[in-house]
Amino acid sequence: MQSIVKMNEELKIRLFYVLSITAIVANTIGFISNAIIYGFTPITIFTLVCAIIMYIVGIMGMYTKNSKLPAVIILVLGNIIEFPVLYLAYGAYYILYMILGIVSTVLFLEEKWQIIGSLFIAFYDGIVIYIKVMYPQLFAGIEINPNLIAILVTYFIAMISIVMMSIILMKHYRLQQDKLSELANQLQEVAHLDPLTHIYNRRYLVEYLNKKMKIESQEFAVVLLDIDDFKSINDQYGHIYGDQTLQAFSYSMKKNMDNKGIVTRFGGEEFMLVFDDINHEVIEDTLNKVAEEFALYGKQSKGIELSFSGGVEVFYQEDEIVKLFNQADHKLYYAKHTGKKKIVFDIDV
Ligand code: GH3
Ligand code: MG
Ligand code: MG
Repeated sequence: MQSIVKMNEELKIRLFYVLSITAIVANTIGFISNAIIYGFTPITIFTLVCAIIMYIVGIMGMYTKNSKLPAVIILVLGNIIEFPVLYLAYGAYYILYMILGIVSTVLFLEEKWQIIGSLFIAFYDGIVIYIKVMYPQLFAGIEINPNLIAILVTYFIAMISIVMMSIILMKHYRLQQDKLSELANQLQEVAHLDPLTHIYNRRYLVEYLNKKMKIESQEFAVVLLDIDDFKSINDQYGHIYGDQTLQAFSYSMKKNMDNKGIVTRFGGEEFMLVFDDINHEVIEDTLNKVAEEFALYGKQSKGIELSFSGGVEVFYQEDEIVKLFNQADHKLYYAKHTGKKKIVFDIDV
């Protein structure tokens, strides 16, 4: 989540760069072309003053990385003073700048100000246009008929600004989409894992089995394992050692299962293994290796004997998940009551 917040900050700064660089470049070009085409008229001086303010504010924002106030100054200066004055002086072609001003306002203002800001500017521009058309004589003193070069410069400045802002926004949008799907994947991964042992949790086991059961003619075996006398291990050596034992046990199971199936924490000190293969020997060999490693861990860490018991149940087409669990549990119960430290495949009656 933090990276998205950071990305939004970066977007603001990047958009501010575009806004201020566009304002600086446009005002500089505007001033130079005015000076060349019309000489030092009051409007040329006006564009020079605007350019200087844009320079100061733009550099201030880029330098401090705090774009809020500088962006507002640039937007207010452009929308409320500069574009209307240029329109009053040069006429209809400069409505392009007014549109650019409204687009920039929507992009830069925070959500709650977007509608109010753009409506205000649209209304304000509308009044300026109305006054210019109804009372042209008021502006006779500053009015200039723009030539082709001035019109083309205006057009390209407006067009390039809008294209640049759109490209940056689209790029940011794509980056954010990628980031979001990566986060969603990570969340799903975390939701499926047990935090203590880092093996799959019961939620994942159920999802996994439900999917597996839907595949036709699929046979597999589940093994429900339970550590023997775990309560007394906790009582004698403490909960932390108990946790470490669960971790060591999980690690050993995961290592020995390799690509034969999955290892899950069923709850507490109970685990369920799902074997893709129902071969008795494969299952027995794997569990024997785990038993050896688990016993070794107990001996090396505390000089004690650690063991587990288990019940194995094979899934055939018509079974249900609850029935599968109950049968495995029934065999585990049987193992516990016939001496522990054993795996029960079938109950002999
Ligand atoms: P049995 O051989 O019959 O299985 O006996 P047991 O003592 O292992 O069985 P019981 O179910 O009575 O005890 C299980 C214990 O496992 C009790 C509980 O405190 C402990 N336990 C469950 N989850 C955790 C855990 O995450 N960490 C630790 N340290 N202990 C846990
Ligand atoms: Mg138990
Ligand atoms: Mg137990």
